[in-house]
Amino acid sequence: MARKVNGFLSRLGLVKDPGAAVPHRKHTKDCATVDLPVPEKVILVMQQHIGAPCAPTVKAGDTVYVGTVVGDSPAPFSAPVHASVSGTVDKIDTVIMPNGSKVQAVVIKSDGQQTPDPKLTPPSIQSDDDLIAAARASGLVGLGGAGFPTHIKLNPSPDVKAKVDTLLINGAECEPYLTSDMRQMLEDFDDIADGIRHVSRLLDVNQTVIGIEDNKPEAIETMKKVASDLSAEGVTTRVEVLPARYPQGAEKVLIHQCTGRSVPMGKLPADIGVVVMNVTSIGVLARYIKTGMPLVSKRVTVDGSAIQTPMNVRVPIGTPIKDIVAFCGGYKETPAKILCGGPMMGTALMTDDFPVLKQNNGFLFFDRQEADMMEPTNCIRCGRCVQACPMGLMPTKLEAYTRIADAQMLKKLNITNCMECGSCAFVCPADRRLVQAIRLGKTIVRNVDQESR
Ligand code: SF4
Ligand code: SF4
Repeated sequence: MARKVNGFLSRLGLVKDPGAAVPHRKHTKDCATVDLPVPEKVILVMQQHIGAPCAPTVKAGDTVYVGTVVGDSPAPFSAPVHASVSGTVDKIDTVIMPNGSKVQAVVIKSDGQQTPDPKLTPPSIQSDDDLIAAARASGLVGLGGAGFPTHIKLNPSPDVKAKVDTLLINGAECEPYLTSDMRQMLEDFDDIADGIRHVSRLLDVNQTVIGIEDNKPEAIETMKKVASDLSAEGVTTRVEVLPARYPQGAEKVLIHQCTGRSVPMGKLPADIGVVVMNVTSIGVLARYIKTGMPLVSKRVTVDGSAIQTPMNVRVPIGTPIKDIVAFCGGYKETPAKILCGGPMMGTALMTDDFPVLKQNNGFLFFDRQEADMMEPTNCIRCGRCVQACPMGLMPTKLEAYTRIADAQMLKKLNITNCMECGSCAFVCPADRRLVQAIRLGKTIVRNVDQESR
């Protein structure tokens, strides 16, 4: 049985009833995935993961195939980028990311043929090292949005690995609107099962737990069948049905809900014996091992009041978002807000010219009414943000100390423990921009720390 989030907080000595009862709005839950026609060009950004950016390994005029490596890095904390269409490299360009940073990108003109790279073959997995090397070669990063290179996650230090006894598969998908992970569980459940076989063997875990919110009954049934088949062959697996309350899919919340364990501040899940993988990530890893085709496409949910036809679409990575919009029938009206990701943790985009990244799982387009254009008013000290915070933080104080750039107080209030889930802002009756303030507060703390080194 899922433990109540209240239990998580009471164990931590924090407030009860955290998180937010956000509306689900899973309009696309019954929309089977459709393939986007091959785009004319793709823009493959060289920084699609946490860690060192890749450098282009191709130049203008080169012929590439689907799966050809077009960017890589010698840094361990990185993941290669592969061509998602066959064609010709048009140019090496610079792209301005949503956070304002400039990153190199390989632009490929498609030949429309989608010819796979003839050198691609399924990897031979004879050892743990082979599997870790395959995870890197696949270009896989955390597809739940974090972009953490998977080969790093699967290769903890020997002392940490010795503690790991649980593989936790994140199928919560607690963000409103998004249904791409749910479609993964319904459409590609065999890949998920294969991925669990590979990774549970690699980590030598005692159990695998698949956490899913109770608003996805079809996915729960499908995964229960997968869990039962795996258990019958000796890979002990169970499904944990979780109350649909945001942010159930946040890593630390999910771990507590599914295992009863709490990740201490400053520690990683593996330190308490848990490795968490997103439900789509583990499926992509298995597909690579089966076919040798690296991560070149992504299922994304397209929804929101300004889009003509909401749907789930499989798109080549690097596709300009506006091509997906056109495939979905265009806009009903010019969107007032474009979000990459869900409304709680998504990133606002200035334009639909931006290309799809590996870790994107949805794009939302809102008209003016739905775009929450309200201006913030003064904090009325109602305390709702404190009650909503699953990490037991005081968002209203974090905002106040950010305003006066008090790094010491921000540190004392554990600002770095904020996972930017947005629950506090969601419940705030004054529409305070709490998450934006906290992000700024983290930057203030980081800058002060760097200066004092
Ligand atoms: S302070 Fe951070 S962790 Fe807490 S509710 Fe707000 S965004 Fe989420
Ligand atoms: S929820 Fe909003 S109004 Fe209430 S205390 Fe927090 S910041 Fe202030």
